[in-house]
Amino acid sequence: MVMEGEIWVYMEHDRGQILESSLKCMSEGRKLAVNLGLDLACVIINPPFEDIGSVLKDYGVDKAYIIQGIDLEGHTSYVNSLILTDLLRMHAPLVVLFAASSEGNELAARVAAKLKRGLIENCIDFEIDNEGRLLARKPFCGGKLHATLTWTKRPYIATVDTNSLTVEKAKEVKPLKVVTVELRQTFEDKVRVVDYVRADPKKINVNEAEIVITVGRGLGEARFLKMIEELADILGATIGGTRPTVDEGWIPEERKIGSSGKEISPTLHIACGVSGASHFIVGVRNSKFTIAINKDVSAPIFKIADLGVVGNLHEIIPLLIKKLRESKLKNIRLK
Ligand SMILES: Cc1cc2nc3c(=O)[nH]c(=O)nc-3n(C[C@H](O)[C@H](O)[C@H](O)COP(=O)(O)OP(=O)(O)OC[C@H]3O[C@@H](n4cnc5c(N)ncnc54)[C@H](O)[C@@H]3O)c2cc1C
Repeated sequence: MVMEGEIWVYMEHDRGQILESSLKCMSEGRKLAVNLGLDLACVIINPPFEDIGSVLKDYGVDKAYIIQGIDLEGHTSYVNSLILTDLLRMHAPLVVLFAASSEGNELAARVAAKLKRGLIENCIDFEIDNEGRLLARKPFCGGKLHATLTWTKRPYIATVDTNSLTVEKAKEVKPLKVVTVELRQTFEDKVRVVDYVRADPKKINVNEAEIVITVGRGLGEARFLKMIEELADILGATIGGTRPTVDEGWIPEERKIGSSGKEISPTLHIACGVSGASHFIVGVRNSKFTIAINKDVSAPIFKIADLGVVGNLHEIIPLLIKKLRESKLKNIRLK
């Protein structure tokens, strides 16, 4: 089967920056483009920067579709889906990838529905089979099984689970072709944004959190969770746990970290009383900075820690809470 057309990646941005999840998605898109010998293109609606070439130069992008227009201020994903659907009809790419973020998931679903095409969500890998078909792999049954799926009609639309991916830069800088789409019409939005409310860190998914505290069996008893919650409150952190803490009923199942739980990639991960077994490490290896507190200097968790504290967590955590309170630090933002 001969595959023609471009590989498109939808780029999300916030506060003047392309989101890391989109850059990870771009790395996945580039692998596909290289394997299929096709061009990699990105789509950016209302880019907050002028020099698109310097923003994209490290990512091996061949083409950038830039959509801008006076009516885009305050637009929602409903309007974006109308714009994107028109663009897809016009340019007929082979593949369209979105990061599996809340915006990416919503937009991909709306676009697929408008085009009456299949959408494969939360993909973790892509491959081409012997017949030249593009296949996507995604976890199901809570990650216990993987399904391999394909599409029957193009464009092949997918969201990519970027939690276990890294941003990979291209080996060579390519000349970038910029296609600017200047919108003139007004879109009637069916959705009105009333307010944005920052999520309560205690309630958000562990794999979406910026700061995660994981607890292990070393905590001793469920009643000591109060101390961890106090630390989490000060830091604006989300709490997860190892399998034994879930089995003990201290931590809910959906907050289990590891090979049989969630994979996290927070900016800061604090492991308290966690030994660092390989099944757990699988779930935390993409954390940007890890602090481990463990009384056993030979605990494997120290091998992956950026900062290791050897000692009794029942002494260290109250001290840490005291120091943080003295510094009046509240809900730190790391990005
Ligand atoms: C098929 C399979 C799948 C699995 N999937 C997962 C998974 O998804 N997630 C997962 O976590 N595990 C998983 N496991 C289990 C995994 O192998 C480990 O047994 C588990 O991660 C250990 O959890 P832990 O670190 O809480 O406990 P332990 O290994 O018992 O470690 C407790 C640590 O706390 C330290 N400690 C004790 N008291 C203190 C104190 N007062 N202060 C400081 N430190 C202290 C100890 O030194 C020790 O290092 C799986 C196992 C199998 C076989």
